[in-house]
Amino acid sequence: MPTYGQPTINLVKGKGCVVTDAQGNSYLDMLGGIATNILGHAHPAVTSAVKKQISTLGHVSNFYMHPNVLKLAEKLQDLTGDKGAKVFFCNSGAEANEAALKLSRRTNRSQIVATEGSFHGRTMGALSLTGQPAKRDPFKPLLSGIKHLPFGDVAAMRRAVTTRTAMVILEPIQGEAGVITPPARYLRQVREICDATGTIMAIDAVQTGMGRTGEWFGYEHEGIRPDVITIAKGLGGGLPLGAMIALGDYADLFKPGDHGTTFGGNPVACASGLAVIDYIEKKDLLSKVSRDETFLKESLATLSGIKLVRGRGLLLGIVLKRKIAFEVRDRLEDAGILVNAPSSSVIRIAPALNISQRELKQFLLIFSVVLRKAHHG
Ligand SMILES: *Cc1c(COP(=O)(O)O)cnc(C)c1O
Repeated sequence: MPTYGQPTINLVKGKGCVVTDAQGNSYLDMLGGIATNILGHAHPAVTSAVKKQISTLGHVSNFYMHPNVLKLAEKLQDLTGDKGAKVFFCNSGAEANEAALKLSRRTNRSQIVATEGSFHGRTMGALSLTGQPAKRDPFKPLLSGIKHLPFGDVAAMRRAVTTRTAMVILEPIQGEAGVITPPARYLRQVREICDATGTIMAIDAVQTGMGRTGEWFGYEHEGIRPDVITIAKGLGGGLPLGAMIALGDYADLFKPGDHGTTFGGNPVACASGLAVIDYIEKKDLLSKVSRDETFLKESLATLSGIKLVRGRGLLLGIVLKRKIAFEVRDRLEDAGILVNAPSSSVIRIAPALNISQRELKQFLLIFSVVLRKAHHG
């Protein structure tokens, strides 16, 4: 169906951060399947874990336990710092947010607060949380009782959130909106408001999670602990895998029969997730990602034509002085670099966390040439 427009590139192969199309052209992949191929393409840690699992036991359904699902849940529990956290596995970001939405109904409250410009997925519930009129409007009526507030506006949050608010849901950085970072202390202040009203603070870390920002889920730099975390994208290392993690007392809101999915917690997807986390930890990729952020921001600051660089870690929105992002994206593609332009003035990069210094330099070099050319028409 023509839901995406017609792609012009037909990719057939990938290794690390390089992908190859059907004609044999290769590209440096600076988008990583939209923040998803977190260890790049065909990473041996992922392929060997997946091969081993698919040739042993591919699927069991949720009538049966499998060691991988348990191990991965325990691993995620560790990463949240809450030994009592519980995990619901699903297959995508939208599904993780659907699960959060349903969980919030179990508080016996039904009002929800989300933010303008946010992206939480395309299914009807997740779309109802999404704060982008262009994506929502054709599909109304959506769920009622959801308010969208300006992202970063603490006063609006204080006014809107009451003891009748079931959940506030936020991205630590709005990814699809163009990598928008809220003012410092925003998450901390929202945390305080949610504490005062007994409201679930849900962090949608679908894009910012799994080490992308130099921290596991993208909220840690504010020193807060949310009540619910949703993740997907990078979690499966390229396989469809999502999770909704509930912390503290909220971990026990769902009762047997409340929610489910056939594929969620699939042994193969979980094997991939475990391999991903294990590799990130073993190679200390979180510190590498922070160093890469500094390097990229310092290097990009020396280029002309750039207004500012937003984001954290390896999720950066390069804001151009002129509205030529679509042209820059196309020129980069011609020059063998894949990026995305979430708007007419922003180039987004979200490469694999293990991208090499040489590849980052290659990107910067070609980007500077393309920017110069685009600026001179
Ligand atoms: C991509 C994304 C989603 C939706 O994930 P899907 O796997 O496409 O359903 C939800 N929230 C955020 C923040 C995302 O970036």
